Amino acid sequence: MAARGYDAKEIEAKWQRAWARARLYEAKPRPGKKKWFSTVPYPYVNSYQHLGFGIAFLRAEFQSRYRRMAGYNVLHPQGFHCTGLPIVGAAKRVAEGDRVQIEILRKMGVPEKGIRKFADPLHWIEVFVPATVEDLKALGAAIDWRRSFITTDLNPPYDAFVKWQFRRLKEGGYVRTGTHPVIWCPKDQAPIGDHDRLEGEGETPTEFTLLKFPMGERALVAATIRPETVFGQTNLWVDPEVAYVEVRVRPAGGGSPETWIVNPAAAQKLREQGRDVEVVRQIPGSDLVGAEVIAPGINKAIPVLPATFIDQARGTGIVTSVPSDAPDDYVALRELQGDEARLRQYRLDPERMRAIEPVPIIRTEGWGPLPAKESVERLGIRSTSEKEALKRAKEEVYRAGYYAGVMSENCGPFAGMRVEIAKEEVKKQLRANGQADVLWEPSGEVICRCATPAIVKLVSDQWFLAYGDPEWKARAHPALERMTLYPEAARKQFHHTIDWLNDWPCTHHRGLGTKLPWDEHWVIESLSDSTVYMAYYTIAHVLQGGDLKSKVPWAGRLDDAFFDFVFRGLGDAGAIAKALKVPPKVLQDLRREFTYWYPVDLRHTGKDLVQNHMTFCLFNHIALFPEEQWPRGFGIIGHLALGGKKMSKSKGNVWYLRDAMKAFGADLVRVGLANAGDGLDDPSFDPDFAESMGDRLREWHGFATARVRTRTKSLPIDRWFLSAMSRAILETRRAMEAMEYRAALRHGYFDLQAAWSWYVRRSSGVPHTRLLRRYREVQTKILAPFVPHVAEEVWSRLKGRGFV
Ligand SMILES: [Zn+2]
Repeated sequence: MAARGYDAKEIEAKWQRAWARARLYEAKPRPGKKKWFSTVPYPYVNSYQHLGFGIAFLRAEFQSRYRRMAGYNVLHPQGFHCTGLPIVGAAKRVAEGDRVQIEILRKMGVPEKGIRKFADPLHWIEVFVPATVEDLKALGAAIDWRRSFITTDLNPPYDAFVKWQFRRLKEGGYVRTGTHPVIWCPKDQAPIGDHDRLEGEGETPTEFTLLKFPMGERALVAATIRPETVFGQTNLWVDPEVAYVEVRVRPAGGGSPETWIVNPAAAQKLREQGRDVEVVRQIPGSDLVGAEVIAPGINKAIPVLPATFIDQARGTGIVTSVPSDAPDDYVALRELQGDEARLRQYRLDPERMRAIEPVPIIRTEGWGPLPAKESVERLGIRSTSEKEALKRAKEEVYRAGYYAGVMSENCGPFAGMRVEIAKEEVKKQLRANGQADVLWEPSGEVICRCATPAIVKLVSDQWFLAYGDPEWKARAHPALERMTLYPEAARKQFHHTIDWLNDWPCTHHRGLGTKLPWDEHWVIESLSDSTVYMAYYTIAHVLQGGDLKSKVPWAGRLDDAFFDFVFRGLGDAGAIAKALKVPPKVLQDLRREFTYWYPVDLRHTGKDLVQNHMTFCLFNHIALFPEEQWPRGFGIIGHLALGGKKMSKSKGNVWYLRDAMKAFGADLVRVGLANAGDGLDDPSFDPDFAESMGDRLREWHGFATARVRTRTKSLPIDRWFLSAMSRAILETRRAMEAMEYRAALRHGYFDLQAAWSWYVRRSSGVPHTRLLRRYREVQTKILAPFVPHVAEEVWSRLKGRGFV
């Protein structure tokens, strides 16, 4: 290997040591000098970090290195997140001997003897925090390590910082209690935030309309999100194999109890949603088939028919049938109509069954009167077992109808009304008539980390961050407008999130974290204790005293007055310092440090956090800080794929940073991630590209440090190369500043190399002395943010000034 130029491992270790010795990344305020402050939210430390964190982290780090070269005073810190349920849950599973959990630890390389220790949540922190630090150092991360720390009450000054925030948020009316629907794990008996989900990030509570279908004194009850389609109902579906239950329940608006027929899961959900539900008896679904019920909205008798396609986990296990606009219903109806044996089995009159026809109810431009039939026929769907195709059909029909449809003449008083509006109006009328009720469901499937499917619970004693508040939203929109977004295309999604964000349950009963200061039964959950984390970094080096868990005595006594002074300039430094037993100058310096670094210039994250954590960050800055300290830039990146395949923890397809570095070394992992993709599309790490870059960098190193025959006489082609190089610099700079790193590599590396080859050929193999030197310097600098170790090695061999 040495014969081919350099040993990557050796130079990586060598330069990492040199940077640390020179304290290159320790940031100090330099009044008058322009600054750049980048952060990536703390990774959650319940495992080794994988490449997905790697790309989110590095894209911010490339920017920090670039800005440093461009003359900025740069702050780039990194903390670690221990808040929440996952570590506690996983430790509990280890204690219980859960095989899956233990296998996960084994796969991470934990030796058999060490596994038992992971029954203690603190052990996870003791192992994975230092491991993450180690990985980032091995990656050559340009971090000011003095400012690192962990969250939770294990670290007193951070704990005090979160308590200060919550007291101030509560005073401002931003934290409230009330009754709210939350996504809930029935096993953990806790709300589950996005971080605590195996599947279903971003899904929120959604209101379903329960339709009542009277059958004598009782009513079969079906759930729908399309109440406006009641005008097209032709029948009701039940699963003959399912045991339903008859329950006594009081309607949502009050009134005397009614008798409903639903599945047992629905009875449980209604109970979690605060309804008194008394189970009277079981009823086999087969007993219901063939009955006649009165359909709400149209007040017409329709038959109850057998179906096998009903998802018993959603709604009530009974669904109304609208074959004109629901592909499932259309296909199921046709299937049944053609199935002699089944009709006979349930003693259904074949002639009457075959007479059932879809009723046109919605007119949509570009569609005929029966969109479900049209879509099903176009996609060639023949059976209810074609789930994927049916899902596609359903989405297509729903979208077209919802945004562009108008209710037809078959819809009584709603004829001519836009579907979007009719949906609400029909729901209102059915509720007023006592023909409908309400059930909450997650907007899509949500699975808790403990593998339990989530439901929606209405909780009445929960604390919320009031992101649903219209006034707060109204301030967030213009605040977003002032920001730079990387990429700009994300702006619409942020505005959309601001509009639709609901109140957010911000406390849990269990888990690691900071206790809610005015009610210590509650622990603040993981997304809510880290919304304005960047402010803490500006002062962390003093409060932490070099430890991840601070042992600085006075930093263990911080009160709200301290944070009000440092972050808001309120109060008298002398008095506050006296209470803390530190010289006032310490406080004044911290205040100066905060005002120098703040606001944050870039916060970079995976795009799945737009819909919560990033937008929370903006809201909470508005609530806590003056306008000039609101964030200046947000950057996002998609979900990283490996060689084209999606990485997924639940599917075991993850690559840990440390394993990737073992295979490629730090520089190649870095440049591979830089080239993985920009913008909103999901990036993909291509091992072949990383491999080929290894050869190219060796070649570059060889060329840049070799003796090359040059000339001093100028030729016209020199001017061409100079201008090609200027263009490459300009375009690279533009791409770097837009965080388009793949483009930066193309302009600044591949194109520039090609231009040089052409130039050398046109110079008969002998370039100009000055241009050779300039080219070597420029190329080294352009490469430096991506492959800092090789670049530093070349720079030192070129006898460049200081570090590259
Ligand atoms: Zn759970």
